[in-house]
Amino acid sequence: MLTRRLQTGMESRQIEHLAVADLPLDCRLVRSRRKSLAVHVRHDLIEVRAPAFVGRGDILKFLDKHRGWVLRKVQEKQQRHSERLSLSDGGQILYKARLLNIELCDSARSGVILAPLDSPHTMRICGPGVKGGRVDQQSAAAQVLKRWLQQQAKDYLPARTRALAEYLGVGHKLKEVVLRKTRSKWGHCTSGGRIQYNWLIMLAPDGVIDYMIAHEVCHLLHMNHSAVYWQAVAKVCPDYQRYVGWLKDNEHRLWF
Ligand SMILES: [Zn+2]
Repeated sequence: MLTRRLQTGMESRQIEHLAVADLPLDCRLVRSRRKSLAVHVRHDLIEVRAPAFVGRGDILKFLDKHRGWVLRKVQEKQQRHSERLSLSDGGQILYKARLLNIELCDSARSGVILAPLDSPHTMRICGPGVKGGRVDQQSAAAQVLKRWLQQQAKDYLPARTRALAEYLGVGHKLKEVVLRKTRSKWGHCTSGGRIQYNWLIMLAPDGVIDYMIAHEVCHLLHMNHSAVYWQAVAKVCPDYQRYVGWLKDNEHRLWF
């Protein structure tokens, strides 16, 4: 998962351009008080992180050694970037592992119509000012889809979580189920018995959603990712590895 480290005033960083032949993207060198060399790839930039004491020659040698990995990573990141969800008229959305065409339409009533009869491979997002609006997280279309997914999450996740917790004999430990869009997490369970889900998961196939519920509820049994914990997950969700794989391959397509 991509994590973004916030730059604080405490950390002194020096950023320079790094000229490297035969790399498809701009390369920048970030020097800081770290102890080792590392390379990070984004869809539009390659960043080498280095301690202050390592010379440019060694940095270039390091990059050359990892060139194959860097090139593969660039391709993967660019592919993922191009697959990101954009809620525009004529765009596409991966909904429950089906690729649907997005159709935006202005109407007095807000709502999402899945596979309307006249267009079975379409997700129609309707509401005031939806068509021709901005294409961003705040757009009218995004608000309509958000409300629709939040309602689905509310109808499904708390009840299902409660039922599984009861079945596993840990119902008394479950205090609260919260729905929230976080930056990088699908679910979270605290030692106080609070389970949090990202409602965006409702775009995923049902099996993946149920895996996520199993994942969090099993934390009420074991607050870790030990072998015993995964055995507990496997008992209620035998195909969990498939769903972990699906999320890894597709989660970048669900965010908006
Ligand atoms: Zn976990």
